[in-house]
Amino acid sequence: MDWNALSELLLPDSQKTPAELEAQYPPRNLPEGAMVTRIAPSPTGFMHLGNLFGALTDERLAHRSGGVFYLRIEDTDAKREVAGGVETILSTFSRFGLAFDEGAGIDGERGDYGPYRQRQRAETYHVFAKELIRQGRAYPCFCTEEELEQMRSAQEAEKANFGYYGSYARCRNLTLEQIKEKLAAGQPYVLRFKSNGTGAEKIAHKDCIKGNLELTANDQDVVLLKSDGIPTYHFAHVVDDHLMRTTHVVRGEEWLATLPIHLELFQALGWQPPEYCHTAQLMKMENGGKRKLSKRKDPELALDFYLSEGYPVPSVKEYLLTLLNSNFEEWRIANPAAPVEEFPFSCEKMSVSGSLFDLDKLRDVSKNVIAAMSAEEVYSLLADWAREYDPDFYALLSADPDYARAILAIGRGGPKPRKDIALYSEFKPYMSLFYEELFARQDGFSEKVDPADAATILDRYTELYDPSLENDAWFAQVKELSAELGFSPDVKAYKKNPEAFKGHVGDVSGVLRVAVTGRTNSPDLCSVMKLLGKERVLRRISEARATL
Ligand code: GLU
Repeated sequence: MDWNALSELLLPDSQKTPAELEAQYPPRNLPEGAMVTRIAPSPTGFMHLGNLFGALTDERLAHRSGGVFYLRIEDTDAKREVAGGVETILSTFSRFGLAFDEGAGIDGERGDYGPYRQRQRAETYHVFAKELIRQGRAYPCFCTEEELEQMRSAQEAEKANFGYYGSYARCRNLTLEQIKEKLAAGQPYVLRFKSNGTGAEKIAHKDCIKGNLELTANDQDVVLLKSDGIPTYHFAHVVDDHLMRTTHVVRGEEWLATLPIHLELFQALGWQPPEYCHTAQLMKMENGGKRKLSKRKDPELALDFYLSEGYPVPSVKEYLLTLLNSNFEEWRIANPAAPVEEFPFSCEKMSVSGSLFDLDKLRDVSKNVIAAMSAEEVYSLLADWAREYDPDFYALLSADPDYARAILAIGRGGPKPRKDIALYSEFKPYMSLFYEELFARQDGFSEKVDPADAATILDRYTELYDPSLENDAWFAQVKELSAELGFSPDVKAYKKNPEAFKGHVGDVSGVLRVAVTGRTNSPDLCSVMKLLGKERVLRRISEARATL
């Protein structure tokens, strides 16, 4: 076979040389050890946890090592692409605060290694496809769907492995003349790789996460270019990761099965493969067993879910880090206030088998994350969330930001901050008692206090109420009132001798709490009353008094 002639016949328009492309995409000028990583999603319109899981790994590896993290759009599969898919990718990553150093963007792209959308790189793939033909490592295959189907049936009958390989790879043996004839007859073809494997060789491979592996070498003549000249994932990512000088490819472990193909392609092209890091699948517990998260059954697989439900982005990231690196939680306990960027993220600490994803655990993490934020931070994140997902609530929050911030400041900071809120969507019911538009009484008075006593408590308190009192003085007054009305000002004293009292100071403040907040459980009552102000406090007390 005259491979040169074949290469000209198939790709006459591809005139650049591999050397020219190598010069166009030179090795990056980065310090020793700097990692170049990429996230390479396909614009299917569905962004899932796996995308974020991988992106976070890429981002941490690159940025902790002083390297580069870039975004590449893998849009070679037109069948899976949906309109607006690229915008979905960009906006989702931007909402999850992932900072790309280069790559595709809404208004054009950034970086010297582009274009970063595969569809725009057809010419580049053709240069290397042509090179492989020249070397006798690629050939056109004219087999039709029906012929491939027949081959599959034959393989089934012969109990042979499926695929296009060895003696089954019949287009391997076409002569130049035969190829010319088929082309002249307008027969469509794909370009296939010619594997050197026999299916018997084993290769040793070290994965950054999975460690030392023994793989069966590739023997499949995989498709490099589809009939429209667009490359397959196998070929495109090999060319791109080489030219874009990726040092570490982080991807889901579902790609491990085809890794031998990729390694053989790198070898055929004379390139050093990047380090591969195959991440474990995200699993969930169900009926006592583990299973993969599924798009159909688990809404929590979609990244949109977290945004619309109001999971704070910092919480989701913090939780994913606990899944990604086994020593993260220990580090967090030792460094409660440190920014996550300081955590020494590493591939070695990544889970080898399925990571268990648990929404309850995420909620717990989120409560801690929210508790550690300042009122200012919570306000700004909450307002951003509400603007999009709860405009009515946003209108209330933004009408008086100082008031909202003051509400959010109650119980925040100090050695024992409140840890009862996990989602932005939980702030509205929590804050509703502060807004007349949202206020609704949830709980009635406790049956422990006789209604006549409750009425007296409210009447006397109305006379005594002094909005200027600070916490200690406020509580001292409630104690005095308790003593005056036959309730013990001291809970311990009451417990020693309950017969001697009508109840204790907690019962008295409970009556006040229900009257003012409409709940038996509320943030610190003195702070609440200060924020509500005299007029509203008195009005609520009198409304509640009327129900007794
Ligand atoms: N486009 C591939 C996917 O969406 C990317 C795999 C990779 O990162 O190499 O699964």
